[in-house]
Amino acid sequence: MAEKKYQPGQPMRVRFGPSPTGITHLGSARTALYNYLLAKQTGGQFILRIEDTDQKRYDPAAENDLINSLKWLGLSWDEGPDVGGDYGPYRQSERKALYQEMAEKLVASGDAFYCFCSKEELDAQRQEQKRNNQHLRYAGTCRHISLQEAQARVAAGEEYVIRFKMPKEGTTKVVDSIRGEIEFENATLDDYILVKSDGLAVYHLATMVDDHFMKVTHVLRGEEWIPTFPLHARVIRALGWEEPEWVHLSLFLKPSGKGKMSKRDTEAMQQSGESIFIRDMMAMGYPPEGVINWVALMGWSYDDQTEFFTMDELIKKFSIEKLSAKNAAIDFKKLDHFSGLHVRNLSTEELAGRIRPFIEAEGYRVDEDTLLKLTPLLQPRLITLDEVPNWVRFIFEDEVTPGVEDLVPNGMDAATALAVAKGMLIILEEARALTHENIEQPIRDLAVEMDLKLGQVFHVLRMAVAAQAVTPPLIESMELLGKEKTIKRLKDGVHLLEELVNGASDE
Ligand code: GLU
Repeated sequence: MAEKKYQPGQPMRVRFGPSPTGITHLGSARTALYNYLLAKQTGGQFILRIEDTDQKRYDPAAENDLINSLKWLGLSWDEGPDVGGDYGPYRQSERKALYQEMAEKLVASGDAFYCFCSKEELDAQRQEQKRNNQHLRYAGTCRHISLQEAQARVAAGEEYVIRFKMPKEGTTKVVDSIRGEIEFENATLDDYILVKSDGLAVYHLATMVDDHFMKVTHVLRGEEWIPTFPLHARVIRALGWEEPEWVHLSLFLKPSGKGKMSKRDTEAMQQSGESIFIRDMMAMGYPPEGVINWVALMGWSYDDQTEFFTMDELIKKFSIEKLSAKNAAIDFKKLDHFSGLHVRNLSTEELAGRIRPFIEAEGYRVDEDTLLKLTPLLQPRLITLDEVPNWVRFIFEDEVTPGVEDLVPNGMDAATALAVAKGMLIILEEARALTHENIEQPIRDLAVEMDLKLGQVFHVLRMAVAAQAVTPPLIESMELLGKEKTIKRLKDGVHLLEELVNGASDE
């Protein structure tokens, strides 16, 4: 094995190589994040490489979604298709000639061969293997065709693929930074296809070639690549290159912890308002900082205690050694937890700026002054920003329509509720402005005088003014609503209660 190409302390060159075929989910976000952290920590480069060799499955909308998701998460790349860099192009479909050249090198050195087997022949081989209870793999028919003959057939226009010539004996040893050395029996490995009949290289070749030419020092990728890990190491070694350091990231399991997430699970989850897709988290108003913190800890820990991390802290503290090979179950409660922590951690101005679009999306207009007063009222209470409209609707609507029954708290009769409302009306009308200083003590006094709990008298006021049982702090909210509107609503409440009381006594 060639000597290690990375010496501790050097800047790392790492890459995220998504195949844009679907919507970006947390698995991709985590891979991107860990790569990003290593690049930032070591003053290295984070490369975005679009792995679009499977042109049939490539979806431009998925690429768009990917770019938006990474940007929203704050994972900016130093080299990539849009920003360029010294090792481009950064799109595999634009690097075909290089892969072809490397494939031919492998053929010339005897590490790969042209295979002319037709689909029918391959199917027949597979049927035969099935009948004999053998592992399904390439039977080796074209391994023995001489290079001269093969080249003549290629030149004559015969259709071919290029396969890696896997040794039939011995073992292949590979090293993963989390798992240590892994040894594979070569006899269990296939002669994998490197270049398809349409001339396009597949992942097994393209990505190894790119990692080499892009001088990637560390490959952090999903655990699903472990079965073909020996192939990848052999391709690199056959080309005479040094291997990067390999890190295979554990899988995410369903919230139940039982098995991998399937497409069905994902859809069921979305129905219940949970999602593994980054764009959904964005729409639900999770702060990206919270998503990052949550995802960072799905497979990595710092000291088993610290749970709050900003991106800067992650950059300082992240390490490959602390990654876990154990698969982690997705826990949406934790997402909410981290979301809340990060909402609290934002400055008022920053949070205000993020809240604004959620208010405006409801058709409300909000001036900066009101927004800056409103934000601290919401900040201790929010988990996601899409909750904002429900908290503040009563402040922006011209009118609210409480149900008369709702104005009467549990354990109180309508006549008492009416007396509370009237008492409140006097307090508010007498106050110069609806501030704590002016009205809090009189409201407390009213409760004492009437021998009621403070919560009960506030309930009457809250329902009349907001028509909802839970609001941000009420006095501050009324201040934002303004004295005139507040009093109008309380008067309406008094009328409703009067009708209720009179109606009841009429009967
Ligand atoms: N294109 C591969 C994928 O989407 C990338 C794997 C890797 O990082 O090497 O799974």
